[in-house]
Amino acid sequence: MSKYTRVRGTQDFLPERAELLHFINESAVSFFENYGYRLIITPTFENSELFKRSVGESTDIIQKEMYEFKDKGGRDLALRPEGTASVVRAYIENNLGELPKPVKLIYVSQMFRYERPQAGRYREFWQIGAEAIGSPDPALDAEVIELCLNFLNSLAVKDLKLIINSMGCRNCRPGYIKVLKKFLSEKEALFCKTCSQRIEQNPLRVFDCKQKECQKVLSEAPKISDYICEEDKEHFEEVKIYLKTLNVEFVIDPHLVRGFDYYTRTAFEITLSSLGSQDAIAGGGRYDYLIKDYGGPDEPAIGFAFGTERIMLAFENQNITVFTEPEPDVFVAWVEEAQKSDALRISAMLREKHLRVSMAFDSRKLKSQLKLADKLNANTALIVGEEEIKSGKYTFKDLESAKQEKLTIEEVVNKFKDNK
Ligand SMILES: [Zn+2]
Ligand SMILES: [Zn+2]
Repeated sequence: MSKYTRVRGTQDFLPERAELLHFINESAVSFFENYGYRLIITPTFENSELFKRSVGESTDIIQKEMYEFKDKGGRDLALRPEGTASVVRAYIENNLGELPKPVKLIYVSQMFRYERPQAGRYREFWQIGAEAIGSPDPALDAEVIELCLNFLNSLAVKDLKLIINSMGCRNCRPGYIKVLKKFLSEKEALFCKTCSQRIEQNPLRVFDCKQKECQKVLSEAPKISDYICEEDKEHFEEVKIYLKTLNVEFVIDPHLVRGFDYYTRTAFEITLSSLGSQDAIAGGGRYDYLIKDYGGPDEPAIGFAFGTERIMLAFENQNITVFTEPEPDVFVAWVEEAQKSDALRISAMLREKHLRVSMAFDSRKLKSQLKLADKLNANTALIVGEEEIKSGKYTFKDLESAKQEKLTIEEVVNKFKDNK
């Protein structure tokens, strides 16, 4: 047993999973590029204040889940629990508002939250997120939602459901919260402990509860859609029309209210029935005030994020395999120790020609080297002996048919040219 184990809620990505993660991340960057998004990388940690301001002091993320620490200089820092705050900070700090609008950015990074670990949920986890800054146009909302859905479709993730709602704006939402609070307070006895705590502090968060009893009471709760102002209603109507134009199917959930304080107007989630109760795979919405709140220009914006591990879980549940173990094209074997350095050199030459090459190390007999080639599922072996070096013609063996011939290095490379 090793003296050390990984920290609870963290994960080692062993080669197969690491390659899958890499594949999903790379696919996202190139897929999003078609919509005009460009990659941004921000620091892993920021001033804690940045997140408290955006996500909201009374949210679980800030109160219970954020990794906060003081550095040796006494700064209050936090590992980022989400991506939008950092992107917006970078947008303002680097004057990205000077670029043509909307400015479209994608990030692919680890996030950190001290949550209860469960299937597909980790304390250090990956997110793919997109932010489109600088336009209030409902057509942009539709484009962003379609991108989110279309990317998942491109990965062949099935059983996706899009849920949308409008969360109103700063003028109309307080009115709704008042009515909601009244409703919830009257029924407080029917709610679980967490919910009854939330009623006073952050009533919108009561909707996050997954308990059946709470959900039952909530189904009768006042709907935000009945309280949003005319402008928000109009915006939402247009979003729906544009989504129809794009042939995007959606369901309206009048109780969908996203977890962060900064959301306004359009909110959406994509759920996956196969993931069970924790079924949201992606979510996002408008955040029209955040940039101004951070001291930047008055620019509306919209964004979303995927939980990458949730996508990976969906892959596993659907038995989607993206990768098979890469097998060597050629296994270079040496007859005696004296030819090991030639084998090393020839391997390098073949790799320069873009072949996948392995060779044996340590002291081994030729027979045991060929056994190793078999274990690695190598297709062919190139045998380097004294005679071969003298003649410049090597024994090239097809490991499946066991047929062998004498070939120069150039001839070996040509063998693979057709299928490369
Ligand atoms: Zn409003
Ligand atoms: Zn509850």
